[in-house]
Amino acid sequence: MDQCNHCQQELIGIDNRGERLTGCLSCNLWSAPGEKLFELCAEDLVALHELRRAEASKRMPQVHRSSS
Ligand SMILES: [Zn+2]
Repeated sequence: MDQCNHCQQELIGIDNRGERLTGCLSCNLWSAPGEKLFELCAEDLVALHELRRAEASKRMPQVHRSSS
């Protein structure tokens, strides 16, 4: 699994309106296949956080602890 160049956290995969993106939730840096890194706008980021929170409440997530 790739890691973020900035914070060394594991990159996650998300579905942004049907587009598969890989990136770092903490740094808000994302990439699509064949595209450069970019930031999601604030509204998209908030929606993404809420989506992940909703998913976490549905099933017990596998928690990956960082080294900190
Ligand atoms: Zn990061």
